[in-house]
Amino acid sequence: MIYVALGANIAGPAGPPEATIAAALKRIAQRGGLTLERASRMYRTEPQHVRAQPWFLNQVAAFRPVDNATTTPEDVLNVLQAVEMELGRDRSWEIRFGPRALDLDLLLFDQVRMQTPRLTLPHPRMRDRAFVLVPLLDIAPELVLPDGTRLSEALAGLQYRVHNDVIRQ
Ligand code: ADP
Ligand code: MG
Repeated sequence: MIYVALGANIAGPAGPPEATIAAALKRIAQRGGLTLERASRMYRTEPQHVRAQPWFLNQVAAFRPVDNATTTPEDVLNVLQAVEMELGRDRSWEIRFGPRALDLDLLLFDQVRMQTPRLTLPHPRMRDRAFVLVPLLDIAPELVLPDGTRLSEALAGLQYRVHNDVIRQ
């Protein structure tokens, strides 16, 4: 299974963050030859690092390749980056952890562990982020990470609060 984190906090060409994320799910499936298997609910999350910016909308989705044999992690990253561009991500003026029309992160590709200049799997910061692990737990409660840690254990190590659809950390 392929797990992708989606985040947005400013409008892009597809509209407000809700519309951008919905459009992104469809395009990732189309462009990547992937079937959308599950999507978490949408969460509203407090910005980290750069606090003076709109709250983020975050979701995590699970995809399965239509053709298992030929889809690589790099293929998926290429699709995610193309969809980010189409839906208004403009890296030319972006600041790290600042506002963005769309951020797509590849969290997990089956149990693959890898580190290249372009792609690290599992995603290097997913373990620290309640806005990733909480929605991931919604759609994959039994998930075990490639190092053998249960997702629920990883989440238990973080300090955060969830109330309805709001995550604070
Ligand atoms: P962030 O998501 O940390 O705010 P970016 O979206 O700008 O930052 O991504 C920065 C770089 O991270 C990208 O150029 C990409 O090549 C690299 N990267 C490494 N591993 C991953 C991954 N698992 N998913 C997405 N991007 C990754
Ligand atoms: Mg990213």
